[in-house]
Amino acid sequence: MAQTLSEIKTLLAAHGLRPKHKFGQNFLHDGNHMRRIMDAADLQAGDVVLEVGPGTGALTERLLEVGAEVVAVEIDTDLEPVLTHRMAGLPDGQGDRFTLVVGDALAGKHTINPAVIEPTMARVASSGRESFKLIANLPYHVASPLMANLAVDHPAMSDAVVMIQKEVADRLEAKPGSKAYGPLGILIQTLCEVRTVGTLAPGCFWPPPKVASTVVHLKRRPQPLTDDPKAFSATLKTLFTKRRKQLGSILGRDTELPEGISHDTRPDALTVEQLIALAEMLGSDIK
Ligand code: SAM
Repeated sequence: MAQTLSEIKTLLAAHGLRPKHKFGQNFLHDGNHMRRIMDAADLQAGDVVLEVGPGTGALTERLLEVGAEVVAVEIDTDLEPVLTHRMAGLPDGQGDRFTLVVGDALAGKHTINPAVIEPTMARVASSGRESFKLIANLPYHVASPLMANLAVDHPAMSDAVVMIQKEVADRLEAKPGSKAYGPLGILIQTLCEVRTVGTLAPGCFWPPPKVASTVVHLKRRPQPLTDDPKAFSATLKTLFTKRRKQLGSILGRDTELPEGISHDTRPDALTVEQLIALAEMLGSDIK
């Protein structure tokens, strides 16, 4: 079952609603791209999914159709009756596998709301799983903090298949020397393998956003490249505020550096592995 553009419009109109810009409501109505998200998610019946921003439930219905247990968090209280009614009307009791949290996905600027994690982990426990997947067409303003927080603080998230702004996706995948290479992508790359699933034109959404979107798949590495992502993240932020300066000028010419890294190198020329070696050598010395 898929929600077409006219269905989405009818659903909202039936509740007297219009897409709300302040909540980043750009509804995906392109069935092919929806399928590509589902293919990348590779779900088995009983898998636990966290969906942030279900909107009218277009993606949610596909997740439930393949047997997933879905916890969704939606900030727009006006969408609660839309979602509740849609999910209750699904065949074969699919709606019984759906939990809706009405509220903000974030509690504070950088932390996922515990009211979202709690029912997600309860589903993980009750379904005998060890992990959950984040699958979502993310509201753009929460995408970066949400992914960073889930990757660092919630190791039970095994995968994220998310639609995000292309510019953020470029940062997640960025390689040394490129403009997009910086703390967010480097941190994520230490914890996850990052793959682009596809890029979508604004016309795939209603209303069309101003920017292109990309679906990325983050797959948690069996072993993270660093044991202390928080300390690493803090070091990265310090180094990258001076990304165009040489290490010698940021750290002092007397600072000992790992083999193969010279004082003339700039932070954004270092590979992820070199940055980890550098952060470990500096320890808490860096200010
Ligand atoms: N999943 C739908 C789809 O694919 O068409 C809608 C995606 S739309 C880009 C983003 C959704 O996230 C909207 O329903 C919006 O109300 C919701 N949203 C925005 N900010 C949020 C937040 N901080 N917490 C939870 N939901 C949020």
